[in-house]
Amino acid sequence: MRNKARTAGIGKVESFSLRAESASLPIQSSILNSQLTVTFLGTGTSQGVPMIGCDCNVCRSPDPRDQRLRSSIYIETPECSWVVDTGTDFRTQALRENIRKVDAVVFTHSHTDHIMGFDDLRRFSHARGSMPVYASPETMRDLERVFRFAFNTSNLVPYYLKPEPHVIEGPFKLVGTLITPLPVPHGDSIVNGYLFSRADQKLVAYLSDCSAVPAAIVDLISGVKVLIIDALRDRPHPTHLSVGQALEVATQVQPRDTYFTHICHDLPQSAESRLPAGVHIAYDGLKLRL
Ligand SMILES: [Zn+2]
Ligand SMILES: [Zn+2]
Ligand SMILES: [Zn+2]
Repeated sequence: MRNKARTAGIGKVESFSLRAESASLPIQSSILNSQLTVTFLGTGTSQGVPMIGCDCNVCRSPDPRDQRLRSSIYIETPECSWVVDTGTDFRTQALRENIRKVDAVVFTHSHTDHIMGFDDLRRFSHARGSMPVYASPETMRDLERVFRFAFNTSNLVPYYLKPEPHVIEGPFKLVGTLITPLPVPHGDSIVNGYLFSRADQKLVAYLSDCSAVPAAIVDLISGVKVLIIDALRDRPHPTHLSVGQALEVATQVQPRDTYFTHICHDLPQSAESRLPAGVHIAYDGLKLRL
């Protein structure tokens, strides 16, 4: 369901009402004392950690936090819950976290490590009747091409995923949460990060894949409670921020806490001990209650 645009301080805001009830999957109660909970479904780079066939110290680490599935987060609010991206590991992640309710999916971009679990939204789509999908025009175009069997509206096979496309053209609301797209460079392409705000409070900025954060985006997320940001490794990379670059962004944004994500096998969890106070390396399964 799509209501017409409203105006707020940051420009056009589209409001979406979601049918929040899932008929067949019991609702989980982990958010009772929180207005927004973030669960890190995955914190790894596109190949995951350990990497296939690698014998490095991190890939063989005994610390379970060094095992990272593809990057994605699950957000729960009192009204509704959604995932940001459905990567290759989405099914494994949903089972591990015992996810019972997904009312929508919001995509950052269409690289395979962020979309290839899309079809495993079926269980949640069946429970709701359809699955609202939020993505930029470019990402939606790619989703429609790769998962044509699902977007094909003339297909009436009842057990197929039924996506309900919502092309993101500016900030939009999922019931009580304002979601502001944050376009950032990711190598040669521009992809979306997102700012999640409730009651005019900037709660979480999620920038999982970026090679720079422009000044206008820094301004937009300045003072956010939690900054979740790409920090692939110490060495520079053409499409991802390094640890040093991510720290520079954190210094500019001044969040209460910073969590690194999209991490490769060069960066062990133990490297957190050399980071400044308030800067953490996220790990799979970590939950933040805001
Ligand atoms: Zn990625
Ligand atoms: Zn390795
Ligand atoms: Zn990417």
